[in-house]
Amino acid sequence: MSSLGDSKPVVSTLAVVGLGLIGSSILRAVRNSGLAARTIGTDHSHDVRARAVELDLADDICPPSFDALVEADLIVLAVPLGAMRTAISEFAAHLKPGAIITDVGSSKLSVMEDMSTVLPDTVHFVPGHPIAGTEQSGPDAGFAELFDGRWCILTPDTHTNPDALETVASLWRAMGSETEEMDAAHHDLVLATTSHLPHLIAYSIVGTAADLEQVTQSEVIKFSAGGFRDFTRLASSDPVMWRDVCLKNKDAILEMLARFSEDLSALQKFVRTSDGHALFELFTRTRAVRQRIIDAGQDIPDADFGRGAATSTTSIPDDSDQHGETGGA
Ligand code: NAP
Repeated sequence: MSSLGDSKPVVSTLAVVGLGLIGSSILRAVRNSGLAARTIGTDHSHDVRARAVELDLADDICPPSFDALVEADLIVLAVPLGAMRTAISEFAAHLKPGAIITDVGSSKLSVMEDMSTVLPDTVHFVPGHPIAGTEQSGPDAGFAELFDGRWCILTPDTHTNPDALETVASLWRAMGSETEEMDAAHHDLVLATTSHLPHLIAYSIVGTAADLEQVTQSEVIKFSAGGFRDFTRLASSDPVMWRDVCLKNKDAILEMLARFSEDLSALQKFVRTSDGHALFELFTRTRAVRQRIIDAGQDIPDADFGRGAATSTTSIPDDSDQHGETGGA
């Protein structure tokens, strides 16, 4: 059951930079619940802006510009990780004093480093990451309930203004999310484990299957229900976003890949030595993990592998994922 509805405005003027899956979902949720008196949507793509106008995503839709951002009290950066710095740098000197800048990037240390080099002391930066998303991109992929019932992780440091932090947390709570504060380095390691590693494994498996010469391509597609198709959902996620995640969260991802390689080698040995006891023990332990995720309300037990129902009352996240939330990145 959605917790969204009419609410008091959290901010006067809210601007979203980047009108793809996450940015358009934020604008839909904000407008549906009246969380901002005025909304502005900006994107550097003409086609995306044209579609955003058709979808009526914001009061004003315009190219990124001084005029678009100077009046904003709260600016949400919803662009790929590799574009965070350039998306704000040329306007940074002209932002309203006291304005709050936040982001939704899937790695936090890199964005905090970027912002520390471009934002003036007159504005407040609050790093954030909604653990909600899908394998889809673009303004049509967004929906107002994406964040409902999901977590949003905020990674303030000693420089973060407490009032700005509370404003950003209030916005996420008003969009249906629960918020949790975390050290940025810890965030990057946690997400490397729960999101980035699973995506890399999926990219790898689907790439391997696509390259196999013993099995014809048509058999890979025809018999995909044996497990392969579940990986293809993750492996269809946006190449730009996931390239940037790998480049920007490199250290944590390499650490988790090394750990995964060790565990895969152990599993290989169990199979080679016909160690049924070890295999059964591992598979029993992993099944329990799945049950705990369902018990925590982070997925549903139904065999809805297509995750088709965008109107489902139980949305699940990718960098967490339903609609195939890849849990979002
Ligand atoms: P998306 O659907 O591809 O949307 C991003 C939009 O930003 C695109 O329209 C892109 O245009 C535009 N853009 C790129 N550079 C820009 C710039 N300098 N100025 C203005 N607009 C610019 O991406 P998304 O899935 O919403 O992801 C956005 C952010 O959310 C990423 O940082 C990602 O790590 C994070 N996130 C994603 C998920 C998920 O599941 N997808 C979950 C949680 C967090 P072009 O395509 O024309 O370049």
